[in-house]
Amino acid sequence: MEFLHVPRVAYFSMEIALHNEIPTYSGGLGVLAGDTVHSAADLELPLVAVSLVSRRGYFRQEIDAQGRQIEHPDEWEPGRFASRLTAAVAVQIEGRDVWVFGWLYVLQGHMNGRVPVILLDTDLAENHPDDRQLTHHLYGGDAAYRLKQEIVLGVGGVRMLQALGFRVRQYHMNEGHSALLALELLRRYAYPPEDLRAGESPYNVPWVRDMCSFTTHTPVEAGHDQFPYDLVQNVLRNFIDLPTLKTLAGDDRLNMTRLALNLSQYVNGVAKRHAEVSRKLFPGYSVHAITNGVHPYTWTFPGFVKLYDAYLPGWCHEPEVLSRADRIPDEALWNAHQEAKRALIEKVKALTQVNLNLHVLTLGFARRMTAYKRPDLLFSDLARLKSIARERPLQLVLAGKAHPRDDGGKRLIETLHAHMRELAADITIAYLPNYDLQIAQAMTAGVDVWLNTPLRPLEASGTSGMKAALNGVPQLSVLDGWWIEGCIEGVTGWAIGDTKEAPNGADGRELYQKLEQAVLPLYYGNRAGWIGMMKGAICKNACYFNSHRMMRRYATEAYLR
Ligand SMILES: *Cc1c(COP(=O)(O)O)cnc(C)c1O
Repeated sequence: MEFLHVPRVAYFSMEIALHNEIPTYSGGLGVLAGDTVHSAADLELPLVAVSLVSRRGYFRQEIDAQGRQIEHPDEWEPGRFASRLTAAVAVQIEGRDVWVFGWLYVLQGHMNGRVPVILLDTDLAENHPDDRQLTHHLYGGDAAYRLKQEIVLGVGGVRMLQALGFRVRQYHMNEGHSALLALELLRRYAYPPEDLRAGESPYNVPWVRDMCSFTTHTPVEAGHDQFPYDLVQNVLRNFIDLPTLKTLAGDDRLNMTRLALNLSQYVNGVAKRHAEVSRKLFPGYSVHAITNGVHPYTWTFPGFVKLYDAYLPGWCHEPEVLSRADRIPDEALWNAHQEAKRALIEKVKALTQVNLNLHVLTLGFARRMTAYKRPDLLFSDLARLKSIARERPLQLVLAGKAHPRDDGGKRLIETLHAHMRELAADITIAYLPNYDLQIAQAMTAGVDVWLNTPLRPLEASGTSGMKAALNGVPQLSVLDGWWIEGCIEGVTGWAIGDTKEAPNGADGRELYQKLEQAVLPLYYGNRAGWIGMMKGAICKNACYFNSHRMMRRYATEAYLR
């Protein structure tokens, strides 16, 4: 294999967004993993990514006339995109051997860098029928299924890299799902019994810590993967002794985040505020902050790529250059934006039959549909929203999937559809089904304002607003996650509320106020001022909130320590 000549950073992620037709991702975490690999390719960082093949994908979303989400399997054929590797390794689950093989997907960057991605697969005739399905469903099944998947990812992944001949200089766990990899390393580097004094741990914890970095993504305790020890013992058997496991992963339950925290030399949150929240959640650990970023070329609309190539050469390798975007003539920038907006309008028409107007201010909101993201905040006072839209027109494009077992999230999609019907006479609203990479690209480039209204402090980072910034689209957002760092009021976008916790009502009122008094008047009354905001988003935010900066920081602060 061509990738074995240098030691690599092994980047482990349960989900990864590699291509629009490879449904091995569910949302922001997977898109971030994909952007990480794209930046590694462009920067020629030696990295190998490891994930699961997720043959049946996450799910394909259909929405019926009542606004109910219908979930379809999203099967893909790995052989169309990846080559089958001949190596196979075994992991032990419930006392049986489960064979794991892999697919090699080569991510070819647009600047010709290449990064190998190994997609692990258990669908082999040698395996028990239940075990063949372990790599079918992303985030599917029960706790036992999830734990088994995490064994395939963490333990199987380490063994697979070794079987393939990779030399690994650092393991990076993207979220706690892959933390069992650190246990596999502990086992591998246990001291021989004859070297041990009585009562001494056989495991070389300092060595394993030196080999591991961990990025946490979840600002609430309940969001972290936790498994009861009776389940763990039944599934993992004697993989590692229970007292050692409890010391590393928590007394009551196996907490994957604690395990990763205890076995990593470098730990970070994904925005400055999120690192602060994580330090409170896990006192005693040193949690750094590396704010997320998005991959510049992937998330820039072709019309903007042309502009940047002309006025800001080198931006693809060094996005800091985008801080000079004020060089771009206003008219050229506006035309590129209107072209992106036209492309979105066509897509919306094709997918939903809804007709949007090129000259009406368009708000975009798309992300996982779940309670804390509050997609209904904009609709908290329909009379007020109508009266704002009567004064100066606006239209909306929405999208997002709810996890199949998130009933609250599914109800939110239905509620949004009910609001759409109620507002039909006053505001044109489209809900695009099956939110994916392509829809995210079209929306973040083609709307005029990107909206985000999470409940503080639950948005660890958020990344879609960064995609908007690359396309000169300002954001209107609650101050949480990356927006605390990215918001310069009236320059890069607008804030809703302050950074303290606020009740729903206050955020809703502030959202209406900003729309009515700042966003709409500027859009309709001051074209030059509006284009100034677009440039502010590019100059101040696109130049910084990108995955090249993020990966250069991981390289110098985590990987090369
Ligand atoms: C960027 C992206 C996300 C993450 O959006 P957030 O703003 O972080 O919620 C989710 N899904 C898709 C398809 C994306 O492209």
